[in-house]
Amino acid sequence: MGSALRPGDTIGILGGGQLGRMIAQAASRMGLKCHIYCPDENSPAFEVAGKKTIAAYEDEQALTRFAKSVSVVTYEFENVPGETARILEQFVPVRPGPHALKVSQDRLTEKTFLSEKAATMVAPFIKVDTQAELEAALMELGGQGVLKTRRFGYDGKGQIMICEPENIKGAMSKLGNQPSILEGIVPFEKEISIIVARGVDGTVKCYDPADNYHKNHILKTSYVPADIPAQTTQEAIEMATRIAVALDYVGVMGVELFVVRNGEATELKVNEIAPRVHNSGHWTEGACPVSQFEQHVRAVAGWPLGMATRAHNVIMENLIGDDVNSWEAALLEPNACLTLYGKAEIREGRKMGHINRLSTKL
Ligand code: AMP
Repeated sequence: MGSALRPGDTIGILGGGQLGRMIAQAASRMGLKCHIYCPDENSPAFEVAGKKTIAAYEDEQALTRFAKSVSVVTYEFENVPGETARILEQFVPVRPGPHALKVSQDRLTEKTFLSEKAATMVAPFIKVDTQAELEAALMELGGQGVLKTRRFGYDGKGQIMICEPENIKGAMSKLGNQPSILEGIVPFEKEISIIVARGVDGTVKCYDPADNYHKNHILKTSYVPADIPAQTTQEAIEMATRIAVALDYVGVMGVELFVVRNGEATELKVNEIAPRVHNSGHWTEGACPVSQFEQHVRAVAGWPLGMATRAHNVIMENLIGDDVNSWEAALLEPNACLTLYGKAEIREGRKMGHINRLSTKL
């Protein structure tokens, strides 16, 4: 396995939220150590890792010390500054590589890459930087669209759905006049996602797609198996594989897709990719012999990937804000697996934990 990690080696993780925490827990189970790097001193991941650095992502000295203390660096969020990745890469492999970061950080780069390099369908999109360009783009897309900032959008933030003429005026200034894209509105039947993993040796494994339902733009529930035709599942697997291969990707990636009905047929369009473990893959823990977190650890460690097979049907429910107060009731449910992220303060819209409700796979 060449430069593969050995038990006792250390994985560096940028970001100290729940995703970093669950990656560190999976790594620990396999005898690996973790060093978490995060500017926020209250990071939930610090509690489960042996080493931590509290410093800014721009702090070159701290980054250099961190890089020298680990065998590989991975991350739990896609907005890692390009310069941060460049500094780290001088000392240690960064997985997934900086190319995946660059592509997924900017919606224009991402959509262009997906359609031109990964041969996947996406919504029609047009680059817009000014209100005048927005109005011209709307004409081209038939008067309606979703205006999205190119960078830093998540959970519906940084976007405006434009369906009526009155939504147009001042739309760019509402989003802070940032470089943006206008996307055509996709008349989707449902939203699904697929978790794909690619190893250092190029092996690809995909988990079953999940049906995703959102509340206030935040993922609330994922159902697996998704209620989609077998052929759609196969297409999702092929699309995710093409994307991972085209990016020369190493690690786990979330691919969000729209399912569009076209007469009798269904069609898939990629909404976005996330170069990291993904909320809509939390169901893999408990429902699969190898969770997305273990799979990510295996990939970035240069180890063989595990199976992505599923042993149970599962419904994953996110505990958002006050939902977390149901934790005691969840403990009494026979088939519920509760995960809490150890966040001290409950805030509206904050992801506090999740429940995987398992049932027999039919
Ligand atoms: P995003 O931040 O791009 O993941 O978008 C958040 C949500 O907005 C998605 O989960 C969809 O429900 C909706 N959405 C985003 N883009 C489109 C689109 N082009 N057409 C229709 N709905 C969209």
